[in-house]
Order: sequence, then C-alpha cells, then structure tokens
Amino acid sequence: MSNAINTTPSRVVEPGAHPAHRRRRRQRRRPSPPYLPNGFETFEQAKERRRHRRKVLRKGDRRARFVARVLRDCWPETRCSSEACPVCMRKFRKRFCRAATKVIASSPEWTRASVIPSGLAVPLGKLNSVNVPNLVKALRKRIERSPYLRNRVVVGGLDVSLNVKENVVQHWQLHLYLLIEAKRGRRLRAAVRTAFPPEPTAARPYRFRTVRDFAAASSYAYKSIFNRRSSYEKDGKPRTRNLPIKNDELRELCTFLDSFPIGARLILRGVRRNGEKLQTVKTKQVSTEA
Ligand SMILES: [Zn+2]
Repeated sequence: MSNAINTTPSRVVEPGAHPAHRRRRRQRRRPSPPYLPNGFETFEQAKERRRHRRKVLRKGDRRARFVARVLRDCWPETRCSSEACPVCMRKFRKRFCRAATKVIASSPEWTRASVIPSGLAVPLGKLNSVNVPNLVKALRKRIERSPYLRNRVVVGGLDVSLNVKENVVQHWQLHLYLLIEAKRGRRLRAAVRTAFPPEPTAARPYRFRTVRDFAAASSYAYKSIFNRRSSYEKDGKPRTRNLPIKNDELRELCTFLDSFPIGARLILRGVRRNGEKLQTVKTKQVSTEA
C-alpha cells in the first residue's frame, strides 16, 4: 500500500493551505497600488478599528451613542461617510492618496512642513466647540495672504493629537501637516513661520523635510489615526512618543470627527476637490523658484 503512505494527510500540502502560501497568493492577486505607502491599513484592520470604536462609543453619552449607531449602519451599499468611521476614512484616504500622489509627481521639489500654530490648543472636553470648516477657511486665508506661499501648490490637512506631559493630560492640539511645492530653504521656512506663529507650549513647533516618498507623504497629510502625544525627558533631553488614546478621550474625539463632513480637514491651495469623488486637480501654473 505504498500509495497510502503518499496520500497521508499530514504529508499533503494543499496549495494555499500553509499561511506562507496564502500570503504569497494574496500578494500576487492584489498588489498594493503605487500611490499607497507600505503598511497602509488593510480593510480588515479598518473594520476591526471600527468595531472597537463602536464598542467604546456605546458606553458614552447620547451623542456618543448616536455616533455608535452611525458606525453600526455603515454597510457596503450605504456607507456612513463619517470621519469617525475607519472604513469610510480608509476609502477616502485611498482616493486622496491617489490624487495627491499625482499632483506631487507633477513637480520636482516638495517640502513637508509639520506646523503647530498658536491658538489651536483646545482644553480636554472642549473639542466639540471647534468649527472645523471655519477654521480651515481661516488657515487657508493665511496661506493666501503670504506673498511666498500664495503661488505655491499646497496639499495638506488638519491633524489632532492629545498632548500629555509627564503623564498629565495638557490639551488637545490641532496642528497642520502641509506638503508645499517648494525647495526646503530659508525663504520657505520664513514664510511658514510668518503665516503661522508658533504655539508657545510646543517643544518643536516647526519641522521641515524634503519629500522623497510621495506615497508616504500624501498618506501622512490626511491622517485617520490619532494618538496621545506624550512628552517626557530622557537623559536630560526632551522626547515624545505616541500612545493610544483612552476610551473617554476616544468618545470625545469621535463625536468631534463626526461633526463635520468627510474631507473637511483638507487644506488645499492651487488644487481643488472635483465633484463628489476626490480628485486633486492642478489649477495654477506656479513658479518653482526657491
Ligand atoms: Zn462608514
């Protein structure tokens, strides 16, 4: 019965049965598009995150329970399009990355500016008093008024984190992440500092980097995962690390995110959103001189 030995189940490896086989097969079938960075969250991860948020929101006040129901009713045919919904945000961010990567690739030099402007620190419990569409309008105006920045293409977003110092919550901090079509030089730095005076409590209110990985840069410009930003000292040097947001804070954050339309945190200059689908379209011929 030699063939009985050959067909012993333990010796048979079905194609795709081994986790490594499955992984390879999945990668072959669905290669990640070039406009998405490595490690872009998967649909399954987004669904898991949504499930967690629903669970936390259900234990909150009326407003939080309302958002829990919004997330519960998000189905493939009837997406909720809430900024609090990780599944809808993933879909939105995929479109945004596709559009933004195209815009970024059309010009040779880009700088990413991470900016913490003054006046955007919000006390814990007060996040829902922020009117995001009005705030974004005001921030765009500041870019328009800058003689240097107004002729540049800018693609970015308003981000939020919860600042924690030595384990004590300080405040919510709204900040900007801007991709600017310009060389990382003195004039750009000066223009950004003038347009956005620094938040006095921030250890590093400005960070400038030359953009090399377009996909990663565009995915950072509009984030959907928010953290506690914990600052502490190690060997006499100030350090920060990102930690997950706690349940009470998550409820406040999600009701805030649900209070404005999806994409309202976008800060665009020289490009526009086209129709219902997000398409970033270059509308201006701009100088690329530094
Ligand atoms: Zn949704």
